[in-house]
Amino acid sequence: MKKKKKNYLFENVSALKGVGIKLTKYLKNKKIENIKDLLWNFPYSFTDRSEETSLDKLEIGKISTVKVLVKKYNFPRIRNLPNKINCEDKNGKIDIIFFNSREGYIRKILPLESWILISGKISFFKGKYQITNPDYVANALNQDYVKKIIPKYSLTEGINEKLYRKIIEQVLKNLPFFNDWHNSLFLKKMNFFNWRKSIMKLHEVNEKIDINSNVYRRIAYDEIFAHLLVLSENRKKIKKTKKNPKSLQGKLEISVLNSLEFNLTNSQKIVNSEIKNDLLSGQKMFRILQGDVGSGKTIVSFLAAVNTIESGYQCALMAPTEILATQHYNLAMNLFKTFKEINIELITGKTEYKKKKLILHNLKNNKINFIIGTHSLFQNKIEFNNLGLIIVDEQHKFGVKQRMRLSKKGGDNCDVLLMSATPIPRTMMLAIYGDMDISKITEKPLLRKKIITLSKPQEKINDIFPFIKKNIKEGNQVFWVCPLIEESKILNYTSAVKRFDYINKKFPNCAGLIHGALDKKDKEIVLKKFFEKKIDILVSTTVIEVGIDFPNANLIIIENADKFGLAQLHQLRGRVGRGKKQGHCILLFKDKLSQKAVKRIKILKNTDDGFVIADEDMRLRGFGDIIGFQQSGDKFFKIADPVHHSDLFKIAEREVFEVEQNSINLDKYNFLLKLFDKAEIINDIELE
Ligand code: ADP
Ligand code: MG
Repeated sequence: MKKKKKNYLFENVSALKGVGIKLTKYLKNKKIENIKDLLWNFPYSFTDRSEETSLDKLEIGKISTVKVLVKKYNFPRIRNLPNKINCEDKNGKIDIIFFNSREGYIRKILPLESWILISGKISFFKGKYQITNPDYVANALNQDYVKKIIPKYSLTEGINEKLYRKIIEQVLKNLPFFNDWHNSLFLKKMNFFNWRKSIMKLHEVNEKIDINSNVYRRIAYDEIFAHLLVLSENRKKIKKTKKNPKSLQGKLEISVLNSLEFNLTNSQKIVNSEIKNDLLSGQKMFRILQGDVGSGKTIVSFLAAVNTIESGYQCALMAPTEILATQHYNLAMNLFKTFKEINIELITGKTEYKKKKLILHNLKNNKINFIIGTHSLFQNKIEFNNLGLIIVDEQHKFGVKQRMRLSKKGGDNCDVLLMSATPIPRTMMLAIYGDMDISKITEKPLLRKKIITLSKPQEKINDIFPFIKKNIKEGNQVFWVCPLIEESKILNYTSAVKRFDYINKKFPNCAGLIHGALDKKDKEIVLKKFFEKKIDILVSTTVIEVGIDFPNANLIIIENADKFGLAQLHQLRGRVGRGKKQGHCILLFKDKLSQKAVKRIKILKNTDDGFVIADEDMRLRGFGDIIGFQQSGDKFFKIADPVHHSDLFKIAEREVFEVEQNSINLDKYNFLLKLFDKAEIINDIELE
């Protein structure tokens, strides 16, 4: 019996009484599939139906509960007219109005001359109070069910309160009892209730949910702990993988370094040796390289590639777009052209069938040892001869599961290096990359000048045209990023088109336009034109590709800049000033700026450090915006909030460390892991 109870929460919602096909579908659209998913949908407010209101004390518009005597039926014989029931108490009169209810039904629930409890919204019509389609009509038996403070759930648009109550109350009633996975000492210290009580309390609140309350924090802690536990398990698993150590001679590396026209920064040197240590070790490398835009990650990854190839392995580099892949390919061809040991090929969606076949053949026979491509690289059934390293550029949208898959893909002997230019707030590094080793490039090449950031009101837009003219004359190229209008992709795109027309008139034959509504091919054509300097100004929405190196782009104008997050502005700004010349960024603002916006501009003007900016951004805007997970519709945490619960992350980190150190059996966490959909990541944990 008990066994069934515990698994109950993982059954499909259709197992609940009152949930049929239609409702199951509706809930699925709201990402509620299993019964437990209902638990995370906390009430956001409440409706107070607890007090009976006398008919002389009614307030129009208020949801009220009244006890009335049913006096008279009015059932009109004309269709579409509502049924009206006259009722009263000793202090006044009220009409109860029913649309779409049958006469027989009304006679049954509102028998004449009986006292009935009714709850609903009070309105006033032709000098009389009324309640239209009341939420509840209760006889003497079920009055207690109505006279209550009833939680309000956002889900209920489309499901009425009565129906949702039936569902959620059923679930709460059946919540299993069990020994908590946290020990009682810990619960006491944290001032936490046990799991069941915390969930119950969160669903019975009669005020707004407070994410800093102990009941909320208890559940948030569970989620954080489960998340970190999975990362730790993932890490352990990968660390256990034995591989053949690579033998580094360093000859090629030295030649490459000598051929560069710059010296590596200290940061680059440190990261390079961290990677080399991994290549040399008997454990699989699983490393993320973080470095701000323009910090020089590419060359570091190329050194890893060269070292891998020199020790007899193949290397695959994966980029998110064709342009970026091509750019990497050109750079590699250029840097390694004198090395007969390195055979490079590019493979993208555009590669012709015949060529592709040849490439696949040569990869199998080890005639190619450095393959560069887009994601299709791993979608194709490519057979490698001896793959020793996978490099993934700009991977910030990978989740834990995808990373795990990637690490398996190359086989045991294959090291994995991911690169990301999205700076993550310090406090969040662990939560996101807890399963990986982390390398950071913290300084930028000395040559680079700090980008000068200016702000201007939108009305003065014409003032910047002479500056643009001057830039173009000096051989610089210009990005013009168009207004981001919240919640409207279509509007964003129209605004880019409009702006393009305007600029095109001012600078005929100089400008190009890209936006999200263009297909990939057309986008690439325009980008190529810009890349080859056939046009000087690129007008775009925010689709400018991450990571592309346009060394001639030295000016970026960002319209409606207060609509962007700090981190995003920083990313956009990082598109310029990549060469030796001074870069400029002009932020245009509409309307009066809020205090927050002023603060943001100030931060942006003062610092160029992506990690500092990420920290500030998190403080100002919250977590979701930074990582960009919200755009992808993939929320990172259901309940926990890294801004508000950062202390819980620290505590969970310690607890997970203890679990790891003491090899504590994970069985007692199975239920917890399943609750947060983490179990399948570790493996298919079955509850007994
Ligand atoms: P990101 O980290 O954004 O991928 P890139 O690797 O594209 O940056 O490097 C940006 C530019 O900086 C490139 O043109 C690259 O040649 C140059 N670069 C890289 N390292 C150095 C360095 N140590 N000194 C000077 N320039 C460098
Ligand atoms: Mg890059």
